[in-house]
Amino acid sequence: MSQSVFQAFQPISLFTTTPTGFQTLQRLGAIGTLWLPEAIATNQPEILPDQTIQVYTDPLKTQIANLWSSHQALIFCLSTGAVVRLIAPLLQDKATDPAVIVIDEAGKFVISLSGGHQAGGDRLTQVIARQLGATPVLTGAANHFNLPGIDILGEPFGWVKGSGDWTGVSAAIARQLPLEVIQEAGSTLWQSHLPADHPFQFDFPEHMATVQETRPTPAARIWISPIQRQFAPDSNFPKVQWHPRVLWVGIGCERGTPKTVIEQAIQQVFQAHHLAEAAIAGIATIDLKADEVGLVEFCQERQLPLRCFAADTLATIPVPHPSSVVEAEVGTPSVAEAAAIVASWGVGGDREDKGDRGDRGDSSSSSSSSPSSSSPSLRVTKQIFRLEGQPGAVTIAIAQAEQEYTGRIGKLWLVGTGPGELAQITPAAQTAIAQADVVIGYSLYIDLIRSLCRPGQLIEALPITQERQRAERAIELAQWGLTVAVVSSGDCGIYGMAGLVLEQLRAQSWDGQVPEVQVFPGITALQAAASRVGAPLMHDFCAISLSNLLTPWEVIEKRLQAVAQADFVVALYNPKSQTRTEQIAIAQRIFLHHRDPQTPVALVRSAYRPTEQITLTTLGDLLNQSIDMLTTVLIGNQSTRRHADWLITPRGYLGFDPE
Ligand code: SAH
Repeated sequence: MSQSVFQAFQPISLFTTTPTGFQTLQRLGAIGTLWLPEAIATNQPEILPDQTIQVYTDPLKTQIANLWSSHQALIFCLSTGAVVRLIAPLLQDKATDPAVIVIDEAGKFVISLSGGHQAGGDRLTQVIARQLGATPVLTGAANHFNLPGIDILGEPFGWVKGSGDWTGVSAAIARQLPLEVIQEAGSTLWQSHLPADHPFQFDFPEHMATVQETRPTPAARIWISPIQRQFAPDSNFPKVQWHPRVLWVGIGCERGTPKTVIEQAIQQVFQAHHLAEAAIAGIATIDLKADEVGLVEFCQERQLPLRCFAADTLATIPVPHPSSVVEAEVGTPSVAEAAAIVASWGVGGDREDKGDRGDRGDSSSSSSSSPSSSSPSLRVTKQIFRLEGQPGAVTIAIAQAEQEYTGRIGKLWLVGTGPGELAQITPAAQTAIAQADVVIGYSLYIDLIRSLCRPGQLIEALPITQERQRAERAIELAQWGLTVAVVSSGDCGIYGMAGLVLEQLRAQSWDGQVPEVQVFPGITALQAAASRVGAPLMHDFCAISLSNLLTPWEVIEKRLQAVAQADFVVALYNPKSQTRTEQIAIAQRIFLHHRDPQTPVALVRSAYRPTEQITLTTLGDLLNQSIDMLTTVLIGNQSTRRHADWLITPRGYLGFDPE
């Protein structure tokens, strides 16, 4: 099992006090530290090789208290009653408490007990339930209505939760009351992936007066904005605010300006313009300042990226307040304004910083794309700031990006979904699908896996012909910092999307690391087809696609000749379409040169789907059967035999059969 899907939930600790519980938790693989009491630990021969086991000798209560604040998730294979008693004294705030999950001893149910939203407990519960083949027990109202939790809505996009009455807004959702959403910045992707009967009213301030007349009065409001709003604490109309990280703070400063001066300058400018510091994407400056101590310290402390640009890049940017003094000194008439603008054109993902969002400079202005026609503009023009009694001076300007900075390294999961039945998808692939921020695929396959998806997930189903667009879209979203599952039927690396995505990444000079790629194998058509007719692939075999859309026919024909002659068992993919009817006839002729017309052939159409059809025939009679693009053709080798409704290719266990 790939552990990377559990990465987002680390550190995880698991607890059980019984041998059965231990066995159940072992089924999850090595996803975290497994804590056992001494009596159980000493009696377990079957510990997984990479499993981290810790033995606790203190009372469990003390043990859990020690781990509480450092852990993202605690998983118990214990009774709910016991867990409730254990954690009750430790619960503080859902913004900081870890996710607590309870699994019954037999591993039939996985309960998201607390920390379902913000600690990611609901998500982890679903992932674990998939892994165990158990039923996830989620009791949050948003799940019931198939809605994303309001307090996790912006997570995929790296938004920062602001102040507000989060409980009040969630309660309004639970009561199915209308909610007003005023989104002034950040991705609106989430809006197009809501169920049809969602309770949100999308408004923009300037339209509010007109639309309100025709709508029921909202019971709560969500602001999505870089603006810092102050809410009256006793209001009976609950409001919350999310801050997408869209603000790039351009900074110019004198050498040796201390961190506190920079900090206070930013604070004052943000306050004066009613902007939220939580909406800061990062800091931008000239590359000369990449080692400016105060600036570097500030970025490190706030975990903000520091983007540095060359003077000649900055000099090309038209700004409201160019300065000839600055130009004479550093070679560009603007640092703060120009750097803020250039940074705001960049991609939103965490490209350089590998997750720690440290202070690394980015002098590669080439990675910034040009602005679109609706060019982001300076939100705050340059302000000069000094602090009494402190050395140095800071110039600050703020530009607003169209796309928010996610601060995350994107992931591309290339997932094979098997032939077409949920039970034939590996648990790892199921987990990847359930866990991704976005699922992209051909609409037919998306429908097959829809039950694995969770509320709020972004599902992008595209028509079958648009493979390139699907790959490009997936790459674009991953570069922005999202976790994207690209689903492909069968195995995604066998005539599937994995190759295309990797080819396109290579064409974009991908460094092999960002976005992170992981391939999840699936049961390919030839295995699925073979399993329905016995064991035709018991000896050396070969797959050939008869589609000449992407491969010249001469190449295909050459390969058919070679494998026919070399006596491989063959699986023909894409054997025949409405317009491509000749190829299968040519293939038959080639094989008849080298094999008996009585050679067994299986035609398996839509294996593991409700419309599955299996036809056993012979090489000689092949063309009299119906064959289409949903069929895999399996042609036996010279020793393949039919027995009743089964095909068997002998491997030689029972001796060489000279017949
Ligand atoms: N990535 C897929 C193959 C895609 S090419 C995989 O690994 O299975 C498409 C071809 O695969 C179809 O034309 C058909 O020949 C075969 N195929 C895919 N799913 C199938 C199924 N459920 N039953 C039989 N053949 C299938």
